[in-house]
Amino acid sequence: MKMTEKPTIKASWLGSHEYCEYKWYLENVLKEDIPIVRAMIIGKEVHKIKEDEFKKVAKPTTPKEFLKSKLYTITKEITLEKEFNNFILVGKIDELGVDVDHLYVIDDKPRAKPYLGTKRQIWAYCILVKEFIREDYPEYLNKKIFAVLRDRDSDNEVWKEEFSKNNAIDVLNIISRMLFLIKGKSEPIPNDIPGKCRACVLHKQEKCSFSCG
Ligand code: SF4
Repeated sequence: MKMTEKPTIKASWLGSHEYCEYKWYLENVLKEDIPIVRAMIIGKEVHKIKEDEFKKVAKPTTPKEFLKSKLYTITKEITLEKEFNNFILVGKIDELGVDVDHLYVIDDKPRAKPYLGTKRQIWAYCILVKEFIREDYPEYLNKKIFAVLRDRDSDNEVWKEEFSKNNAIDVLNIISRMLFLIKGKSEPIPNDIPGKCRACVLHKQEKCSFSCG
């Protein structure tokens, strides 16, 4: 990346940064190879199967028609991007639902739990959805946006909350911290919760000197 280019921040980084800033830094700033674990491969396969099933029954539509829907309607795997003053935010949303008054930004996770990092990832998607509507379909800005976490395997919603201005501020604060780290203005902080380290692939392969697990 040239120093004049704006850094690209992936919405999924909000989750991995909260798990361990040091691990996030190794993987995404230093671009070190982090071993791929079996759960990641299975996760991709399950995602692909669900996407293919959806494609079989989905009817093509336009964003405007989708946003106009009065009955609950969904679309899947939407990639959005928004250029801000000093960074570009990108994200791929698992599922977006719409009805007369609401939009539902849904993320599927295995063994889903509403950890702060997971919520931040979904809030980052909510920012992208809001900005997309603000720029291209402002007549639908009055729809309330809900962040939803769903268990990938049971399809149960485990957390649902209206997206707020404070949620957006929280995400932008974390992105500011990431930009500081990307520009080398700060050192990454390792996680200090032993349970997280014990579950970390870098701890299991004895590749992290900071591990507290
Ligand atoms: S072992 Fe712990 S400190 Fe090291 S990268 Fe993993 S979570 Fe972070």
